[in-house]
Amino acid sequence: MTLHVVVPQESEALPFTVEPGGAQVASKEVPERIHRILDGLLDGGAVLAPPGADDTVRAERLAGAVHGKELLEHLRHGVPEGADSVLDDAFAAPGLEQETPVTRGVWPAALGAAAAAVRAALLTARRGEPAYALVRPPGHHAGPGWYGGYCFLNNAVIAARTLQEEGASRVGILDVDYHLGNGTHACVQGDPTLAFASVHSSRPDDFPYAFEPGPGLFGAGSDPGPEGFLALVGDALSYLRGQDVEALVVSVGYDVLAGDPHGSWSLAPEVFGPVAALVTEQRLPTVFVQEGGYGLPSLRGAARALALEASR
Ligand SMILES: [Zn+2]
Repeated sequence: MTLHVVVPQESEALPFTVEPGGAQVASKEVPERIHRILDGLLDGGAVLAPPGADDTVRAERLAGAVHGKELLEHLRHGVPEGADSVLDDAFAAPGLEQETPVTRGVWPAALGAAAAAVRAALLTARRGEPAYALVRPPGHHAGPGWYGGYCFLNNAVIAARTLQEEGASRVGILDVDYHLGNGTHACVQGDPTLAFASVHSSRPDDFPYAFEPGPGLFGAGSDPGPEGFLALVGDALSYLRGQDVEALVVSVGYDVLAGDPHGSWSLAPEVFGPVAALVTEQRLPTVFVQEGGYGLPSLRGAARALALEASR
């Protein structure tokens, strides 16, 4: 098997975030993340795939099906004349204050990421080989009508919708980012053709600061260690198999690793080898979509370990 990697054009979409009280802090969601992950993926045997001419048009159409009109309009045109950014609680997840500003570069960057997710899904559906949308900004905190947590458009759900348009009737989304994919969870609610399973930290002081147990949600209240983490990933995949899914989207977050500035766990980068092995053992068409992962020193090794297994 070949793991195909799709990388959108580089952007500086999110130079800062805003803390409660208004202080601006430099974003850890930086372009260097992508450079290091790409190095690791290629070293692990993955190959770069070019974008397709119609990916952006398709991504925009699917974004319109996944998200509300007001949200998309705000991302496109929400920054007032003369300003560089806007911070609007009206588009925050329920119960949260907005901490992620919309800057002028957000819309093209978010749409570029969604287009790469579309391309990766098309490669998977049409070639029968796995693909990896190596995107930023990430997407799993973006809900039907909100953005936040560095996320604007839900790339994973857009990838799942693409797989469905290519013939998969039920698609499972496995989210192994440190943080609960609250946006993805909300996007799939009430849709029997999509299933969501997540392994994440359920500590109340981790974004998105609320955890209500439910089907498919495998939260760890403290560091699960490698064996505990892999057991939870196995449970999440078993849950999705029980939903009779025909294809998988995997939201990959390397912020589960030791040293991540947004995480608290102790996992080594190599854990992504067995994670990928558990996924490939399902023998389902699979699209990997980049979510978090901000500890720069760990990214290359984690991506290499994943690619080595996903390319077998
Ligand atoms: Zn995360």
